Amino acid sequence: MTDGQIANIDLVKQVNAAAVYRIIDLQGPISRVKVAEISQLAPASVTKITRQLLEHDLIREEALQESTGGRRAISLMTVRDRFQFVSCRLGRRTLYLALCDLAGRELVQMRRELVGQSTIDEVLATLIATIDELISNNPRKIRKLIGLAVTLPGLVNPESGEVLYMPTLTLNKVPLAQLLETHFALPCYVGNDTRSLALAEHFFGASQDTQDAILITIHNGVGSGIISKGRVLLGQNRNVGEIGHIQVERFGRRCHCGNFGCLETIVSNAAIVERSQELLARGHASSLSSASASLTIEQICRAANAGDALAGQIIQETGEYLGRTIAIMVNLFNPEKILLAGEVVEADKILFPAIRRCVEQQSLPSFHQNLPIERAYFQGQHTMGGVALIKRALLEGDLLQRIMEM
Ligand SMILES: [Zn+2]
Repeated sequence: MTDGQIANIDLVKQVNAAAVYRIIDLQGPISRVKVAEISQLAPASVTKITRQLLEHDLIREEALQESTGGRRAISLMTVRDRFQFVSCRLGRRTLYLALCDLAGRELVQMRRELVGQSTIDEVLATLIATIDELISNNPRKIRKLIGLAVTLPGLVNPESGEVLYMPTLTLNKVPLAQLLETHFALPCYVGNDTRSLALAEHFFGASQDTQDAILITIHNGVGSGIISKGRVLLGQNRNVGEIGHIQVERFGRRCHCGNFGCLETIVSNAAIVERSQELLARGHASSLSSASASLTIEQICRAANAGDALAGQIIQETGEYLGRTIAIMVNLFNPEKILLAGEVVEADKILFPAIRRCVEQQSLPSFHQNLPIERAYFQGQHTMGGVALIKRALLEGDLLQRIMEM
């Protein structure tokens, strides 16, 4: 056989093992017969694959019910608490880490401020040192460490794990996954934070019941993650969904991208605070007047919900600008659900109706009828994106294969 044929056989094995694991994970407890039926694999193949999965403790058997024939029916389930991994979110100012298990539970959390770290080398050194610390401080919580995941704002090549761009750091193609794999001798997965969070909503959160959903995140920046047919939508150029830089005001403020009036310059947290402060400085009456100098997005949201006219107006405008952009996305992608994550969703009483009105005026009726526009399930749970990357690597077979080779 040629090397190519051997590689193909390995790939088929990996794909089949992943198919069996995925069915057991999503539909377990489930019998071998049923797995064979759904996967359309030969019963002998299913038996062989499940034996391997059992040997590596990736699944377990459970005698569930007595079948009518008197034989005990054995069901299979995935084992989720035996394997741990580290999920990191490398933010602009803060590094968040969590030790998690395959059920997506966070067993230990840690955070490190990145203040004063201005080069990529400094940030990488902190990342590695903090992961080391998390692992060495928690030996009792780790039964088997199977991998690492890192999500970050910026542009990432998800196949190679290279970081191509970060908003606050100067860098030139950092092979992050490879660096971490070499240091920790563990599989490592790297992804854009918003796209990874969209996947987390699909696996564990508010869009589990859909195949096509869009997550919009609004924090320092504004971004989106598009799930299409159960997968993160990526183009040949990989990164898709940078809605924060859609121009919504021709003569608006300058954006860090160099353009003017980008969505981000109006609806990001800092922009909302700044616009509120401008109105307060003009002397308009508001419950926020006394807090003007140290105003926060949370205070504005609370005031808007409580009926403060100034805060209400700001949130209303925010909803309209967001709504226009969301209407474009609805027309382009016809999703089954739109999710929003960010501090501003706390102003739900005003924000969501404003968005809905825009979407209803500016997208196709058949596209927005019965389209839920709601809060994302994960709000401020920074490390869930990395949990989704690990889950995907497991379900698609790459990580599953590597666990069986460990
Ligand atoms: Zn911009």
